[in-house]
Amino acid sequence: MNPVAAFAAAALMVGSPDPAARFTARPVQAGETAVLVFTRTTGFRHDSIPDAIAAVRRIASENGLAVDATEDPSAFTDSNLAPYRAVLFLLTTGDVLGDEEQAAFERWIRAGGGWVGVHSASDTEYDWPFYGELAGAYFAGHPEIQPATVHVEDRAHPSTSVLPEAWPRTDEWYDFRANPRRSVHVLATVDEGTYSGGSMGPDHPIAWCQEFAGGRAFYTAGGHTRESYVEPLFLAHLAGAIRWAAGLAPGYCGNVGRETPRRSLPRRPPPRVMTPRN
Ligand SMILES: [Zn+2]
Repeated sequence: MNPVAAFAAAALMVGSPDPAARFTARPVQAGETAVLVFTRTTGFRHDSIPDAIAAVRRIASENGLAVDATEDPSAFTDSNLAPYRAVLFLLTTGDVLGDEEQAAFERWIRAGGGWVGVHSASDTEYDWPFYGELAGAYFAGHPEIQPATVHVEDRAHPSTSVLPEAWPRTDEWYDFRANPRRSVHVLATVDEGTYSGGSMGPDHPIAWCQEFAGGRAFYTAGGHTRESYVEPLFLAHLAGAIRWAAGLAPGYCGNVGRETPRRSLPRRPPPRVMTPRN
């Protein structure tokens, strides 16, 4: 195999979508749980996108999920979205959907769809208010990639249940335009005392979830680096998020608007009684 063909084969193996490839509708199959991975960028493009897609494909196969990855916004119609239980905005940036596509996605969420936003999903669709509420916060800036300690507030949710309370890792630590805590259920914060350049202060949410508009939404700011997608705990975080968003694992994401940072109140375990969806 010549070097160019070998490179192309390797790119296929890690599942990097051809940005120009057209989306092909998935037939609805009874008993199948499918997730759609959307990686379109119109701004900054992370070189970790192929690694991230490969990681989601591995997670999907380990959890019995079907997965499609696309950069084609025409995937966002009522009929195209219907087969999917979860849609991931994986390292998206900028204005990625047109008005009709946005409306179809909004209907899909309102019908009970689950959204997972990773890293620059918060650097996406600044002029679409529904998306801003779904994501919970918009990106504001970041210092250099460096180690920091994440504090896991909720260790019952499927996305955080295997994480340690103090979770040291290296990533690009996002600051947000506003603290989302009053409108989302915060799962984890990053400790600005453990790295330099953070600007959110002592309460710096870094992963959260919410029941939103009839659907579910999860966001994690991690995942800038290629290394993130071979990091066992980050992969477990992502796997739990996908399982929760797809309705395969119950997780508490309510009590929104009545929460205060854990440092100012004794922690109470979140209720574990949920109505699982199937
Ligand atoms: Zn980044």
